[in-house]
Amino acid sequence: MWGWQGSRPLRFGVAIAGVLYVAVLRWALTPYLGQKAAYLPFAPVIMAVVLVCGPAPAAVASLLALGFGLYFSGSSAIGPADQVNAAIFFAVAGGMVLLGEIINRVRRQLVTSYQRAQHNARASKQLAEELNLLIDGAQGHAIYMLDGLGHVTIWNKGAERLKGWTEEEVVGKHCSMFYPLRSLAIGKAEADMTRARREGRFESEEWRLRKDGSEFLAAVSLTALFDDDGALRGFAKVITDITRQRAAQDRLRARENLLTSILATVPDAMVVIDARGEILSFSDAARQMFGYEAMEVIGSNVSILMTSPDAEQHDAHLRRYLNEGDPHVIGKVRFVHARHRDGREIPVELSIGEARDGGTHVFTAVMRDLTERLEAQAELERLQSELIHVARMSAMGTMASTLAHELNQPIAAVVNYVQSVRGQMGMADAATLPMLRDALDEAAQEALRAGQILRRLRDFVTRGHIERAIEDLPLLIQESCVLALMGAEEKGIHVSFDLHPQASPVFVDRVQIQQVLLNLIRNACDAMEQSARRELVVSTRPDVPGMVRVTVADTGPGLAVDIRDRLFSAFTTTKPDGMGVGLSICRTIVEANEGRIWAESTTGKGTRFHFTMPRLSED
Ligand code: ADP
Repeated sequence: MWGWQGSRPLRFGVAIAGVLYVAVLRWALTPYLGQKAAYLPFAPVIMAVVLVCGPAPAAVASLLALGFGLYFSGSSAIGPADQVNAAIFFAVAGGMVLLGEIINRVRRQLVTSYQRAQHNARASKQLAEELNLLIDGAQGHAIYMLDGLGHVTIWNKGAERLKGWTEEEVVGKHCSMFYPLRSLAIGKAEADMTRARREGRFESEEWRLRKDGSEFLAAVSLTALFDDDGALRGFAKVITDITRQRAAQDRLRARENLLTSILATVPDAMVVIDARGEILSFSDAARQMFGYEAMEVIGSNVSILMTSPDAEQHDAHLRRYLNEGDPHVIGKVRFVHARHRDGREIPVELSIGEARDGGTHVFTAVMRDLTERLEAQAELERLQSELIHVARMSAMGTMASTLAHELNQPIAAVVNYVQSVRGQMGMADAATLPMLRDALDEAAQEALRAGQILRRLRDFVTRGHIERAIEDLPLLIQESCVLALMGAEEKGIHVSFDLHPQASPVFVDRVQIQQVLLNLIRNACDAMEQSARRELVVSTRPDVPGMVRVTVADTGPGLAVDIRDRLFSAFTTTKPDGMGVGLSICRTIVEANEGRIWAESTTGKGTRFHFTMPRLSED
């Protein structure tokens, strides 16, 4: 570029105008100068044109000036002296154009390098500002520089935020002020710098001080800075407060350990699967339940743990759930069969939970092995029915032998008296008649005694052992039901309670009333075994004043018509292995507790047994 940025014709125009202007001045001075200084006045204008308008306009100006020079030399014919002058002028003008061009070039280079330097200076200033902003804005990080001896030279805002000291307070101070006393005692500050100098850079986690004296766990990075000659310039230090991060990590790790230990000890098996049904995790209890090692099954489809038809249908169920969101089994407890490695079927209680993390689904199956529980339950039921049977047998046996023993005497006596009266009848006369009357009186006495024995026996069974107390009726019912309803759920019997708040407390022998409830509930369950609808309702209501009524209602077939009239008599039964004494004992107990018992029945619809007992009166 030239000094002046005008258009090309304009630059030529200016060059010519400059030469013409000087020519006019020279012409005006001709009276004084004569033929002297014909060329000289044009030299400055040529120089100026080179510098301002460039070499081409300067060349044109030189030619023009040469013409004027010849003109002002004055001679009409061009002699050798003129030729020499013109040649000198021409050479000088050429030199000036060349010199001007060199000056222009140097000037251009100077301008360019000045502009470049300015641009670089601006860019580095901006970069430095941005870097400073970046460093100062680095949240949670202290970034600062030390000189070769460990004195702080640069301190950023983050360092101020993290440690509490301002720039004025720390610049020039030794970095040992950031170390706790115990670290200083072992020469940590110096050791760190020596290590950084040796290794170039190192990272560590250690405790550091704040201005207020508190400590924080810091992730420290120390880098040694060397110049081109390998001499140590200083250190760059980046410190991050990781106290909270570490605490969170520790908490997370503790939770993980807790979870792992819970999973390892929980007796329920846990299997986690992904949305494709592939096993992700297999707990220790699952390993024991299924006989597979975790590594063998992880990545396999969970259907290997299922029995038919679940195994074949599982993938489709899973897909349907993911597509349609039908919460078929999620969150519900089900009784299913699982498959052991050896092919054996295991009855399990299964509940499935779902976790979503963004778009990913994870399902958790928790399984409890019911084998032992079912076996124990079956065993309990067997023992229970045996116990009831034995209890009834022994009660019957005791009663029978007592009856036999106690009644033997009076009956034998009655027989004796009646036989002797019969023997005397043929020869009866007035004298023997009183004797016969006495004998018959005795026989009647003995028969009455037999009746008393029977009454005493009944008292022995009931009243003799009765221990009445104030009882909470709902609690009493609840306790009886635990035993009476064992296995009812598996038989599909739905049980409900309708307990009136006013129908409690009662004044009864708890054990005896529980015996009645047990008997009525088990009879109801037995009766519903073949029914389509199996609903059992135990309800309580206030009855006639001072009494409470308990009703056990079922949806069985109703009472057999032929036994309705003698339902509560002993030995009435329709069951092949029934004893037929349950209801008669119930009646004895209920009456001994001052209540009464009766039944209502609709054939095909069900039976309702009611019994009453005294409610605890206000006084
Ligand atoms: P067992 O149960 O040994 O037969 P029980 O005295 O308890 O003796 O019952 C007598 C009979 O009464 C039963 O055999 C049965 O026919 C009938 N019975 C008792 N409860 C019901 C009921 N809820 N539904 C239908 N029949 C019943």
